[in-house]
Amino acid sequence: MSVVTDEFVQLSENQKLVRNSIQDICDNFDHEYWRERSAAGEYPTEFVDTLSEQGWMGALIPEEYGGAGMATTETVVMMEEIAASGGGFSAAQAIHGGIYNSVPLVKYGSEEQKERLLPDIAAGDTSIQAFCLTEPNSGSDSTSIETRAEREGGEWVISGQKIWTSRLDVSDYAIVVARTTPKEEVEKKTQGISMFLVNVADAVEQGGLEYDQIDKTASDFVHSYSVYFDDLRIPGENILGEKGDGFYQVLDGLNEERLVIAAECLGLGRLAIDRGVQYANEREVFDRPIGKNQAVQHPLADVYARLQSAKQMTYNAAEQGEDATDLGALANMSKYLASDAAFEAADAAVQTHGGFGIAREYDVERYFREARLTRLVPITQQLVLNYVSEKVLGLPRSY
Ligand SMILES: Cc1cc2nc3c(=O)[nH]c(=O)nc-3n(C[C@H](O)[C@H](O)[C@H](O)COP(=O)(O)OP(=O)(O)OC[C@H]3O[C@@H](n4cnc5c(N)ncnc54)[C@H](O)[C@@H]3O)c2cc1C
Repeated sequence: MSVVTDEFVQLSENQKLVRNSIQDICDNFDHEYWRERSAAGEYPTEFVDTLSEQGWMGALIPEEYGGAGMATTETVVMMEEIAASGGGFSAAQAIHGGIYNSVPLVKYGSEEQKERLLPDIAAGDTSIQAFCLTEPNSGSDSTSIETRAEREGGEWVISGQKIWTSRLDVSDYAIVVARTTPKEEVEKKTQGISMFLVNVADAVEQGGLEYDQIDKTASDFVHSYSVYFDDLRIPGENILGEKGDGFYQVLDGLNEERLVIAAECLGLGRLAIDRGVQYANEREVFDRPIGKNQAVQHPLADVYARLQSAKQMTYNAAEQGEDATDLGALANMSKYLASDAAFEAADAAVQTHGGFGIAREYDVERYFREARLTRLVPITQQLVLNYVSEKVLGLPRSY
């Protein structure tokens, strides 16, 4: 039960409906549930199944294909509440791909692909949880990807390596981004990249796909993988959208998704402050609650103000959507501010807990590790500042 009020953004009736429905679901998954998933490194299958059964995986799928046809204004509420409920950033990440990877299919899929897959995704019977973009030699610079897809007869043959692909173990299909025209042969390095839909089980059975789990220290129950494509053959029709336009397709919709990531950070920050306040009220040292000390109060109050400020920007940007003068700037800055606020909130919660701040039973150490991660993914804080420097302040491009 949350002790911290969070009523400074006026929600629409639809947003309230989403918030209440998500809270009802999340009430069944308490702190102990998330602590156990974290300790065991186990994907929260029951939680994801419950959301799937109630149609939430089809949040962004149009109603004509059986989805909920939700807007960004509602998705921010959904994902913030999931994170704030106790699951943190990782609980939101456990389903984030499943929801967002249907977007390229909705926007660029052929009618046949859409009719075949979207109703099943919306019903929770199939999933596209994995998105394979990042590679060992091309992190933030995604146009430098080296994975190749060559046309051979009626098939595409994919070879190369990806890294940090999350949720591949729980994904029926993966979206794979690969070069179809070498960098040297295109005018701009953003050209010549394409998107493919890969059936994971078929690819593994064929021997064209292998993956190894990365041993990492945050997001305990959502696993990420090093992925190897070795002459993987997929049907010619599994290209998604136009050949060569894949990079632009990746960018399309990215701003809205970034706002939702910001909302996930906001939820994590709210959760951390909530746990800090609860502990500050309960814990007595020198015969009084530690929360009576302003040195304990101020870090929590300070970051609460910062979190609310990030929330105003995130929700306002979601409301403006495509009408915004520069949605890219707003989305990037929202993510930047929300990540930092989540990090400061988690740090304040750990400090408030004293030694117990690093005891797993109080959960705040997990929030802290997750909050640190939000400064790295899906885009690092520096890359956001590059965007603001160049696109908003008009400073010279550095690469
Ligand atoms: C837990 C986790 C899950 C992930 N899931 C996925 C996924 O599902 N699919 C996927 O495709 N990817 C995924 N990623 C990858 C993620 O998107 C990248 O880690 C992120 O984009 C940063 O790339 P990098 O790690 O290669 O860092 P690099 O690009 O190597 O950068 C290293 C450091 O240098 C800085 N830097 C580099 N260039 C500049 C510059 N020009 N100016 C200023 N600073 C610079 C960066 O900000 C960073 O601090 C995941 C990563 C993690 C950690």
